[in-house]
Amino acid sequence: MADSNFTTDDAGIPVASDEHSLTIGPDGPILLNDAYLIEKMAAFNRERVPERQPHAKGSGAFGTFEVTEDVSAYTKADVFQPGKVTEMLARFSTVAGERGSPDTWRDPRGFALKFYTEQGNFDMVGNNTPVFFVRDPMKFQDFIRSQKRRADNNLRDHDMQWDFWTLSPESAHQVTWLMGDRGIPRSWRHMSGYSSHTYMWINASGERFWVKYHFKTDQGIEFFTQDEGDQMAAMDTDYHTRDLWESIEGGDFPSWTLKMQIMPFDAAKTYRYNPFDLTKVWPHGDYPLIDVGTMTLNRNPSDHHTQIEQAAFEPSNAVPGTGPSPDKMLLGRWFSYPDAHRHRIGVNYKELPVNAARATTVRSYSKDGAMRRSNRGDPVYVPNSKGGPHADPVISGEPANWYSDGEMVRQAYTLRADDDDWSQPGTMVRDVLDDAARQRLTDNVVGHLLNGVSEPVLLRAFDYWRHVDKDLGDRVEAGVQAKRDELDPKAALQANPSRSSAQRKA
Ligand code: NDP
Repeated sequence: MADSNFTTDDAGIPVASDEHSLTIGPDGPILLNDAYLIEKMAAFNRERVPERQPHAKGSGAFGTFEVTEDVSAYTKADVFQPGKVTEMLARFSTVAGERGSPDTWRDPRGFALKFYTEQGNFDMVGNNTPVFFVRDPMKFQDFIRSQKRRADNNLRDHDMQWDFWTLSPESAHQVTWLMGDRGIPRSWRHMSGYSSHTYMWINASGERFWVKYHFKTDQGIEFFTQDEGDQMAAMDTDYHTRDLWESIEGGDFPSWTLKMQIMPFDAAKTYRYNPFDLTKVWPHGDYPLIDVGTMTLNRNPSDHHTQIEQAAFEPSNAVPGTGPSPDKMLLGRWFSYPDAHRHRIGVNYKELPVNAARATTVRSYSKDGAMRRSNRGDPVYVPNSKGGPHADPVISGEPANWYSDGEMVRQAYTLRADDDDWSQPGTMVRDVLDDAARQRLTDNVVGHLLNGVSEPVLLRAFDYWRHVDKDLGDRVEAGVQAKRDELDPKAALQANPSRSSAQRKA
C-alpha cells in the first residue's frame, strides 16, 4: 500500500526526490526546469520577514486572563468584567539586540499582550518597567538608534548611548531602573510588566478614569547580576526563551496578577505630577494598586514564526471601555505600531490567525492588497442600501475622548508642582534600594561607563548621576577613576590569547 505521508511541493503535487536535483546524467548540470528545487531555494531565501526594529529578539506563549475582582465601576470592557476568562497571547523580548542576540543582556524587556475578547482584540504593549527613556515621540527614533549600531563600523557603542542619555535628562528614571537589579531579569517569569503609559477606562455610565496597568509576577522578582548575565549569555544565548518554554512544557505555568492604579478623570488636571508623562510613576501612596485578575501562560507556541514572529501587537487595539490618554508617546505608538506591522508583515497582517479576532466577526470595509485571503464581499462602500455593515455608536460606546484647547505649538509638557527629571529616580536610589542594591547599581554604571565612554560624555555622565543622587554620582566617578587604568577582562583575554592552547600542551 502506498505511503500517504509523501512530500509534495507547495501546490500539493507529489515530488520525486527529497535529495536529488534534476540533472543531465548523474554528473551533469542542474536543469532550470527543476521547479521543485527552485521553489525550495526561493522559499528559503524569503523565510525571514524583516525583524522588528526594536524588540527583535523574543518569544512567548498562550494562556488565559481571568478576572477575580469587580472593577466594573471603572470599565465596561468585556475582558475586565467579573469572572470573565479570556484567551490571550504574551510575547517577551529584549529591546536593542537583534533576533539572535543574547536574552541576558542588560536591557528593558518588552511585555506585549493580546487578549482575544468578545469585543475584538485588546492589546497592551508594555515593558517590564513602569517608565521610559523619553516622553516625546519626536525623540524615539534617535533614542533607539543610539542604543543600536553605529553607521561606520556597525558596532554598538556605549559612548553613543551615554551621549544621548546625558543630553536627555528625562531618561534618568529609566536609566536608573535599567542599571539596577531589574535590568537583567533572571527569567521572563520573574519580572513584572507595566503598561507604563497612562490609558483611559470608561464605565457603563460613560464615566472616565485614567489608569495604569501593573502585571505583578506571582513567581517573585529575581535577577541576574552583571557577571551572571554575562556568563549566561556565553553559555546559553536563548536562556529566557528556553526557561519559559521548559517551564510550560513541564506543567509549571507562570502567572501574573493584574493590579491597576486608577485616577479620577478630573484629578489629572491638578495632580502634582503630569500623569501623562511616561518618565514618571504615580507613587503608590497617591494611587494604590487595585487587584483585577490573573494572567496564566499555559500553552507553548507550536510554530514560532506564525504565532510569535508574525504576532502584531498595537496599543491602538483598544476595545470599548478602554482608550488612549494625552501621553504623547502613547499617541505616537498608536500610529507607529500598526505602521511597523504593515511594513514588516504586510498590509493584511490582521488576517493571520495569531492576529485575527477570535471571539468576534470582522466586518470592516478593508479590501484587497497583497496576500489578502478573502474579502468580505459587496457592498464595498458605506453608506449603502445593500445591507452592508453600518457603524453603531451604541455598541461602540462612549468614545475615549478628552477636551483640548490651545494654539498649535512645538513645546514640552507644562511642568506641574513636582515635575522634574531627577526626583523620582533619586527616590528610587535613596528610599527603594538597600545598600547592597545601591552598590550593584554603582558597579553596573561604572562597568558600563568603562566600556568605551570617553570625555566629554564621561564627565556629563558623572554630573547626570550626581543630579539623581549626589553620593551615587561621587561613587560612580570614584569607581571609574579607580578602575580606569586597570586592564579590563576583554583586554586581558586579547593580551593572552594562547593561554588555552598552552594549557592544552601542558
Ligand atoms: P513604593 O515603595 O510604594 O514602591 C516602590 C516600587 O519600587 C515597588 O513597585 C517595587 O516593586 C519597586 N522596586 C523595588 N526594587 C526595585 C528596583 N531595583 N528597580 C526598580 N523598581 C524597584 O514607592 P512609590 O510608589 O512611592 O515609588 C517610589 C519609587 O519607586 C519611584 O520613584 C520609582 O522610582 C519606583 N517605582 C515605583 C513604581 C510605581 O508604580 N509607583 C513602580 C516601580 C518602581 P515590587 O513591589 O515589585 O518589588
